[in-house]
Amino acid sequence: MATGDGTLLARMRGVTRVYRRGGQDLRVLDGLDLDVERGDFLALMGPSGSGKSTILNLLGGLDRPDAGTIDVEGTEITGLSSDALAAWRARHVGFVFQAFNLIPVLTALENVELPLLLTPLSRAKRREHAQYALEIVGLKDRMDHRPKQLSGGQEQRVAIARAIATDPTMVLADEPTGDLDRASADAVLDILTRLVSEHGKTVAMVTHDPAAAKCAKRLLHLEKGVLVEQGTTHGA
Ligand code: ADP
Ligand code: MG
Repeated sequence: MATGDGTLLARMRGVTRVYRRGGQDLRVLDGLDLDVERGDFLALMGPSGSGKSTILNLLGGLDRPDAGTIDVEGTEITGLSSDALAAWRARHVGFVFQAFNLIPVLTALENVELPLLLTPLSRAKRREHAQYALEIVGLKDRMDHRPKQLSGGQEQRVAIARAIATDPTMVLADEPTGDLDRASADAVLDILTRLVSEHGKTVAMVTHDPAAAKCAKRLLHLEKGVLVEQGTTHGA
């Protein structure tokens, strides 16, 4: 059953990642295959240390595989130079992390504007795009607040606004609700769901939160480097 729009956005084939630690090789992924459809909302679950973040980082070009290919929207990202990969990432991927990672001395608006500094947009256009992103997460009225003046849930919503400011195709969220109370977590999940249903984004999320998994259209379980497809209770 298609959980996206039936067209392929990303294809990982034979992806292997080996970390070298203290003279020993740790083979986290060994020939992993994964297809992600455009418009999908994917939840990736599994025990700590199983390689979930590794998959997300490879998919978003933050890390490179030791073997295998990763094709996103027709670009074989494993073949790009470091500079080209960074430029590709800036245009195609927005990351959201568990710890928000906002810059404390900058306002919400300035935080969201940051990724736009890498684009040719004028100052006025940057502001416009950042304000629109903050509007999507329901925080336009907090744009002059610094992270310390926001709740954790609001900080994560600003981080999501920052992730979507450049209008990327893919949003990759690594345990986005891990540090949040239930109500804030639900607000974040609602936003991620709307990014898919209303804004045409494709979302891949690592999570331990059963409520988060329920929001996803597709649920994958990673165990010892092997991905197993699970059913979802999502209606769509
Ligand atoms: P998960 O997100 O499922 O908890 P990760 O993908 O972060 O797992 O990590 C998988 C394994 O790889 C873990 O054992 C982790 O310690 C190891 N690992 C991850 N990143 C590195 C790295 N940069 N150097 C060495 N080992 C790493
Ligand atoms: Mg992780």
